[in-house]
Amino acid sequence: MGVYNRINIEITCPKCHKPLEWQSKHLIYDGLFLGNLMQDITLNERMDGEIYAFCYNCEIWFDADIVKGGITDIKQSKPITKEK
Ligand SMILES: [Zn+2]
Repeated sequence: MGVYNRINIEITCPKCHKPLEWQSKHLIYDGLFLGNLMQDITLNERMDGEIYAFCYNCEIWFDADIVKGGITDIKQSKPITKEK
């Protein structure tokens, strides 16, 4: 718990466009599970899996799917209860 890898990627919040700190949820590198060891990771084409980030401004978690090192989909982990 509380141990993760930081992902070197700049994807801002899809809602408010503030910078997010992306963390590994699970990542596979060359078919092997990449342990969460507080490393900084730059995605490459040998990586698949899922990363996530929390926007403190929106109070929303976002999940992003990784296929061959690229982001294929970003989605909210939890529904918004209210929008301003
Ligand atoms: Zn946001």
